[in-house]
Amino acid sequence: MSDAELVLRSRRVVAPEGTRAASVAVRAGRITAVLPHDAEVPSGARLVDLGDDVLLPGLVDTHVHVNDPGRTEWEGFWTATRAAAAGGITTLVDMPLNSLPPTTTVEHLRTKQRVAADKAHVDVGFWGGALPDNVEDLRPLHDAGVFGFKAFLSPSGVDEFPHLDRDRLGHSLAEIAGFGGLLIVHAEDPHHLDAAPQRGGPRYADFLASRPRDAEDTAVAALVAEAKRLDARVHVLHLSSADALPLIAAAKAEGVRVTVETCPHYLTLTAEEVPDGASAFKCCPPIREAANQDLLWRALADGTVDCVVTDHSPSTADLKTDDFATAWGGISGLQLSLPAVWTEARGRGHGLEDVVRWMSARTARLVGLDGRKGAIVPGHDADFAVLAPDETFTVDPAALQHRNRVTAYAGKTLHGVVKSTWLRGERIFADGVFTAPRGRLLTRTP
Ligand SMILES: [Zn+2]
Repeated sequence: MSDAELVLRSRRVVAPEGTRAASVAVRAGRITAVLPHDAEVPSGARLVDLGDDVLLPGLVDTHVHVNDPGRTEWEGFWTATRAAAAGGITTLVDMPLNSLPPTTTVEHLRTKQRVAADKAHVDVGFWGGALPDNVEDLRPLHDAGVFGFKAFLSPSGVDEFPHLDRDRLGHSLAEIAGFGGLLIVHAEDPHHLDAAPQRGGPRYADFLASRPRDAEDTAVAALVAEAKRLDARVHVLHLSSADALPLIAAAKAEGVRVTVETCPHYLTLTAEEVPDGASAFKCCPPIREAANQDLLWRALADGTVDCVVTDHSPSTADLKTDDFATAWGGISGLQLSLPAVWTEARGRGHGLEDVVRWMSARTARLVGLDGRKGAIVPGHDADFAVLAPDETFTVDPAALQHRNRVTAYAGKTLHGVVKSTWLRGERIFADGVFTAPRGRLLTRTP
């Protein structure tokens, strides 16, 4: 503590061993000590007393579509990272689509890094993409520092990012397993989607029927089987169907290296409440029924589902038409993910420790950043979110920072106001005001 430059003091610091009153000492952007609340502050250090506001580790969101460059009218690094900062997220990992180019070669990665470099308000890392024809690019991308590779098992929604069939999945996964990499997968089975009724139009029930649970369940089963066969490490993206949980739990019990994420919208919104024509709620796989949601919460509690990420995937407002078949599929959740999840979590008897585990510690571990991010412990980056957990606010789209202010949460009253966000010991956001971007580009730690 004696050499601390900054001390953050709170009666509620969420640390791995529990929530307690503490003073967190920071020097050169890192946490140096977690001390008693009344620890003496060295004369040269700045003290920030947060009172009863809760000090959390900054959230790590490993599923964000920034779309920059190429589809910057949908979203960009400047706006996405401001939304992240306003939401208490201090690290995001960008998906390899829907930018142009997609992150499928080292050259494309360099392009994206160049574009992001001076716009990042929070730390930014990158996923690579596994396409049917880029197997030889995977190892170089891994060596260049992507955190893993995303693949689709059904059409992705954009032509430049084709999906893998079963053969190609095995081929790419064998390659990735060969160098100890991670494959992250959008798991919906194309044959089950083709066989489902495709009615189109504004009725949410029709859209839900077009993306049935068994499409997810079948694809998850296929992925787990391949992971087991190849002893590969895989991650199921945005799980929505609770029917896939038993087979995931069984695979984990058997030692298959599979992790699973779900998203705020699956945990806080239900099919029953989606108004017809309201394609702000459209995403794939879809938001399902309340009974399905209860099972997702139970799976989070028992560890079958590991983590919660936004899958922030915006488009321009004009693509969010009232026809669910043709409207863009994606929900913009970056800024609201913490209050949305916290609001539902507290109602279900969970604490902020749980939310931190799902949205920061486990996501940091997923991408191998758990030695630097995701916990308030000495040695970690001094990345924090300061939350007033009992304050409420009503979601006003005009207050959102992402580029197109379409939101499925408009008008909802949520618990948890992010008072400030800190990145490596600097306050990057407070009371609606941002500093100049000081985020860094992150690469996988070998
Ligand atoms: Zn996504």
